[in-house]
Amino acid sequence: SNESRAEVLARLPLRDDLRGRTPYGAPQLEVPVRLNTNENSYDVPGEVVAAILDGVRQQARHLNRYPDREFTGLREDLANYLGHELEADQIWAANGSNEVLQQLLQAFAGPGRTVLGFTPSYSMHPIITAGTGATWVDGKRGKKVQPTDDPAQFDLHVEETVAQIKEHRPHVTFLCSPNNPTGTALDLEVVKAAYDATDGIVIVDEAYHEFARVGTPSALSLLEGRERLVVSRTMSKAFALAGVRLGYLAAHPAVNDAVRLVRLPYHLSSLTQAAARAALWHSDVLLDTVEVIKSERDRVVTSVRELGLSPAPSDANFVLIGGLNDEKAIWRSLLSRGVLIRDVGLPGFLRVTAGTPAENTTFLDALADSLLDAP
Ligand code: PMP
Repeated sequence: SNESRAEVLARLPLRDDLRGRTPYGAPQLEVPVRLNTNENSYDVPGEVVAAILDGVRQQARHLNRYPDREFTGLREDLANYLGHELEADQIWAANGSNEVLQQLLQAFAGPGRTVLGFTPSYSMHPIITAGTGATWVDGKRGKKVQPTDDPAQFDLHVEETVAQIKEHRPHVTFLCSPNNPTGTALDLEVVKAAYDATDGIVIVDEAYHEFARVGTPSALSLLEGRERLVVSRTMSKAFALAGVRLGYLAAHPAVNDAVRLVRLPYHLSSLTQAAARAALWHSDVLLDTVEVIKSERDRVVTSVRELGLSPAPSDANFVLIGGLNDEKAIWRSLLSRGVLIRDVGLPGFLRVTAGTPAENTTFLDALADSLLDAP
C-alpha cells in the first residue's frame, strides 16, 4: 500500500503523551572520522580483548542458565574501582547508564511526578523522563553574559539551582558533571545545595568523570550521610566499552532496593557481566588512553581558540565550540570532508569529541578550511 508509516503510526493506539515526539537520533554514519557521540576513539587493547574472550568463553557453556540476578561479583569489582570506601551493596548496574537512569525514574518518578534538569544538558534525560511517564521541567542554567558566544552562559550556579528546585519541587533532579554538551564540571557546592533544597532524589550523572582535570572532585565524596543522592557512571566512555552497554550507580543500599522493584529480572546478561568484569580487572591498561585523550582535548580547546572561536573549558572528552556564525553550514562542510561532529541544537555552537591525535588533526584542518568556506 502507499500509505505512509506516519499515517499508520497516527492510527496506532500509541500513548497520547508520546504522540509527536522524536526518538534519540545521533546519526550513525560510516565516515572516516566519527567524533559525534563522545566515544573513546581507541580500540580495546589486545590483552583486554583476550581477557574478555576468556571470560565470555567460560560463561558460554552455562548460557542455558539465567545469569546471577544480583551480579554480585561485578558489583564488588565496580565498588573496588570506584574507591571512596564504597561497598558492593551501594552499587547497581544496568545496560548502559541510560538504563540505570531509566530504572531510577521508574522507581522515583513516573506518571504524576516531575523531573527537573538544567538545559542544555544530556538530551536523554528528558527523553527517559517522557518514556517513564513523568513530566519534564526544563530548568535553565547560567546568567546572561556578554558576548553571547561565551560558553560561560551555560554554567550552573548555586542560587539559580536552589531557586528552581524550590519553585518546581521535583521528585527527581538531574545534575550532570562534567555536563554534556558543555563539558564543564559542577562545583560540589551546587550538588550540596540542590540536595538540601529538595526532599526528592538528586542524580549526578558523572558519565565523563574520568576525563576531569586534576582537582575536580566527584560527587561520590558526598554520598556519606545523603540517602537521596545518586551518582551514575558508565563504562562507555573512559573504559572504551560503549558496545558492552554497562552503566552503574553508587548510592545508599536502600536506593538499590527501590530499583529492584522495577528492574527486569536477569537484566544483565552473563556475557555482559563477564566482559565488564574482565575489563575492570584490566582497568589500568584500559584507562591508559584517558591521559592521551585529556591532553588531546586540551589541544582541541587551544587550537579552536586560535581559530578565533570560543571553546568551553572542558573536563570531559569533548569540547563545546561557540562563536560559529552558521553552525549548520560548518557541520555540513565538516561532513563533506569526512568528519562527523555533533549539532546539539544550540545556535552558534557545535560539539566535538576528542579522538586520536590523527583524528583531531583532521578535524582541526577541516574546521579551518570550513571556516574559510562558510565563515
Ligand atoms: N550520561 C551522559 C551525560 C551521556 O553523555 C551519556 C552518553 N552519551 C550517557 C549518560 C549514557 O551512556 P551509556 O548509556 O552508554 O552509559
